[in-house]
Amino acid sequence: TQAPVNVTVTGAAGQIGYALLFRIASGQLLGQDKPVRLRLLEIPQAVKAAEGTALELEDGAFPLLAGIDIFDDAKQAFEGTNVALLVGARPRTKGMERGDLLEANGGIFKPQGEAINAGAADDVKVLVVGNPANTNALIAKAHAPDVPAERFTAMTRLDHNRAIAQLAKKLGVPVTEVKKMTIWGNHSATQYPDIFNAEVNGTSAAEAVGDQAWLENEFIPRVAKRGAEIIEARGASSAASAANAAIDHIYNWVNGTPEGDWVSMGVPSDGSYGVPEGLISSFPVVCRDGSYEIVQGLEINDFSRAKIDASVAELSEERDAVRKLGLV
Ligand code: NDP
Repeated sequence: TQAPVNVTVTGAAGQIGYALLFRIASGQLLGQDKPVRLRLLEIPQAVKAAEGTALELEDGAFPLLAGIDIFDDAKQAFEGTNVALLVGARPRTKGMERGDLLEANGGIFKPQGEAINAGAADDVKVLVVGNPANTNALIAKAHAPDVPAERFTAMTRLDHNRAIAQLAKKLGVPVTEVKKMTIWGNHSATQYPDIFNAEVNGTSAAEAVGDQAWLENEFIPRVAKRGAEIIEARGASSAASAANAAIDHIYNWVNGTPEGDWVSMGVPSDGSYGVPEGLISSFPVVCRDGSYEIVQGLEINDFSRAKIDASVAELSEERDAVRKLGLV
């Protein structure tokens, strides 16, 4: 039998963690042939709750779950890890300035980057879910100089999935008919879901919609503000859909994307599409053999260009802010 893959989950006792861990244990993160060993990281006051979740995981008698360890120390939690899911973060609370938010998250993602650098497995893949995800990933990456930069990614897959679902609904087609969706930029309200390069039933999605007003006034804001809509309806942040997207992100990264399609991932820019090198920005990517490549040569019209530039400008500002704080 195969050696288990070590999967570290931070913020394991949180809402997303609760929805995520059972799916990892059931084999949906990596595949049905891959046993996993979970390493859960929590802050000391949440360790007990994580232990409770571990009891429930035990009660699942998951055939692929080879073990669970719980830590309140990042160095230990990332020792030997192959897949690191950085979910725990400091959310913005009322009255909090952006600088304070970035500083608080620097206090989390800097030591985690250092711990990954020090002890993670050579093939480590990192996904940052905790917000502000792109910039938290940038901070972690900056403190892991020995890990190839492209292993640090941020989650825009939930935005990608939301965009597919909204487009499919508008056109009255199953989600499986929508291909080549792209989220560009930051996982924030400035993100740009691009339907000009998307296809429905093999033809241009933008042409199939044929309604620029819907695109500008309904689709884009709906996708970008879906998180707020969920909070309003549910009385709590989206959690299961975020966990689902994290599963999708890693599953595709490890096992590849289907032929004729791509996915969106926040990845360190190589300068493609005019996005400054090093920023962690969302791009269309194809995955194969455990690595990914940014899809090249897509046409970017003026409308898309302006939207991408605005979101990337926000990422540059966030980078400048964490630079000032000495975090990158
Ligand atoms: P959640 O599990 O609901 O969310 C965790 C993070 O994911 C938040 O930063 C949240 O950002 C983010 N997120 C990203 N995308 C989404 C999305 N689409 N929908 C909702 N959230 C999204 O938070 P909880 O408060 O329930 O749990 C957090 C846990 O993390 C706590 O148990 C806490 O103790 C732990 N923690 C652990 C740390 C560590 O391990 N070192 C450090 C800090 C916290 P947003 O707030 O913007 O929604």
